[in-house]
Amino acid sequence: MKHVYSELPARPGAAPSDGHRVSVEERGSFSFAGCSCGWFAPGRRSRDKARRDAADHAAETAGEAGGAAV
Ligand SMILES: [Zn+2]
Repeated sequence: MKHVYSELPARPGAAPSDGHRVSVEERGSFSFAGCSCGWFAPGRRSRDKARRDAADHAAETAGEAGGAAV
């Protein structure tokens, strides 16, 4: 696991092209979807919903990557 924060991530509209790593965290009876880019979804009672949130975000951000392999 790499933990690299090169510069200020506070840049509205400019998503890091480093990819998005979504994950679902469980806390008690709630599940939270989060991403390595700083995005996160509100707590859900259903793990499925949290997963959906994560998948949604991944799909949204995936559209921005034009598949430019440099
Ligand atoms: Zn993200």
